[in-house]
Amino acid sequence: GFLALQDELLQAEQKDQEIIDAMMLPTISGPNLALWRGDITRLHADAIVNAANSELLGCFCPCHGCVDNAIHSAAGLQLREECYIIMKRLGHQEPVGQAKITSGYNLPCRYVIHTVGPVVIGRVTALHSRQLESCYRKCMELAEQKGIRSIAFPCISTGEYHFPREKAAQIAVHTVRDFIQYSQNEIKVIFNVFTERDETIYQKIFDRE
Ligand code: ADP
Repeated sequence: GFLALQDELLQAEQKDQEIIDAMMLPTISGPNLALWRGDITRLHADAIVNAANSELLGCFCPCHGCVDNAIHSAAGLQLREECYIIMKRLGHQEPVGQAKITSGYNLPCRYVIHTVGPVVIGRVTALHSRQLESCYRKCMELAEQKGIRSIAFPCISTGEYHFPREKAAQIAVHTVRDFIQYSQNEIKVIFNVFTERDETIYQKIFDRE
């Protein structure tokens, strides 16, 4: 019945929290970085990051495989409504490399931080790299302001936006590490990879540095 279901959900929640605690890898920059492969919408982190598009209203493209789609689908319509209000107030498209925060609604996380990564057409430039770095930094700044203790990042821009995966992973790890070093609060950061290929790329960076 209902109680059994509630119990099951509670256990699942505890298990997810245990996963977050257990997967924190000790690295040279401190014990607060982790690598985890799976669906970001399942994470009971304080915040998950959405690799959004500049409309911020969720993805309507037919790919159905993007993280934006997964997050909006799992969060429910209220997320789109809050994003709509933010966009109306903003009065223009969300620029690349900024961050906006909303509630998580039906997601197990408390907040979603939305950031728009650079679209790479042709060769990746120094501007693309700075923009991607800005995505990670602004999300971390917002998380710090909100007193967030754990945050999960997907591999921003590496899907439909075609940022080269190795370079994107390096930017992700380096930017977050730099931020954590000088940050006031203790914050756990989960690099949430979705594919085995990305897991290998991140693992190599962790092993090497
Ligand atoms: P972008 O448009 O910024 O490139 P995409 O959503 O197309 O964003 O891809 C970003 C990354 O998100 C890709 O590496 C993809 O494998 C990953 N991804 C897709 N679905 C999920 C999910 N449910 N959880 C975590 N990561 C996901």
